Amino acid sequence: METEGIRGWLIDVEGTLVVDKSYRAVPGAVQWLSSLVIHKIPFAILTNNTTLTRSEMGMRLRDAGFGVTDRQIIGCQGRAVQILHEHGSPECWVLGSDSLIRTLEAGGLLCRDLSRETPEENDIPRALVLGWMENPDARLLSRAVELLQRPLVTFVTLHKNRLFRNAGRVEPGLGAWASALEYASGKEAIVAGKPALDLFRAGARALQLRPNEIAMVGDDPQADLTPAAELGRKTVFVLSGKYGDTSVLKRLPLEFRPEFVAGSVAELEKADG
Ligand SMILES: [Mg+2]
Repeated sequence: METEGIRGWLIDVEGTLVVDKSYRAVPGAVQWLSSLVIHKIPFAILTNNTTLTRSEMGMRLRDAGFGVTDRQIIGCQGRAVQILHEHGSPECWVLGSDSLIRTLEAGGLLCRDLSRETPEENDIPRALVLGWMENPDARLLSRAVELLQRPLVTFVTLHKNRLFRNAGRVEPGLGAWASALEYASGKEAIVAGKPALDLFRAGARALQLRPNEIAMVGDDPQADLTPAAELGRKTVFVLSGKYGDTSVLKRLPLEFRPEFVAGSVAELEKADG
């Protein structure tokens, strides 16, 4: 595949480097990433994972054979910490995993777990942070809506992916829950991860390259590729993840359709080697 002119990569994880949420390498992906390291081509990992801390994700990727350092991982959790500080919301209620709470607390935030306690009338919560949750029930969603209806509460969702694939099955993504809570509460969420542009800007800063020298590769046209194209990056759609064919691309405006489509990142190896 012709990738001339690409001097650095922004890379999605699940469905691109690893199969679904298994963290088993996509065949050929380890070799492709190694070829970037060998040829000193800079890259950053852009991830919307909300259930692994950055060091846990680094470990999982290294266990799968990828030569990645924790510093190369730019994720929605770190961005959420920044957003909450920018909004002056050091205290937040969290609907999400224990690892998300650990990340937020390590970032200097005071967290309370909405799945374990209910805000009292006299509590003055400043933010609700939404990450992935297993089987949220109606009672929990009601608590979240009640909180969001309070005027001073900022709503931060870790990302807005439409769907994800787990053990071969498609499931509604965090974006589906975020949209449901926005609709019910009438309050718009601030998006920390993809497709918000700030995560892509952070990735580009890490590479220290011009926009048209950078390519983003991912399996999600809406979360990975459209925002990257909006910022002038080249885009590569891989069929190793959520979508096994290109029919989803028909929903994208022409200007946001990817430059390249590949079965997986393994097809990129030759051009970089
Ligand atoms: Mg993905």
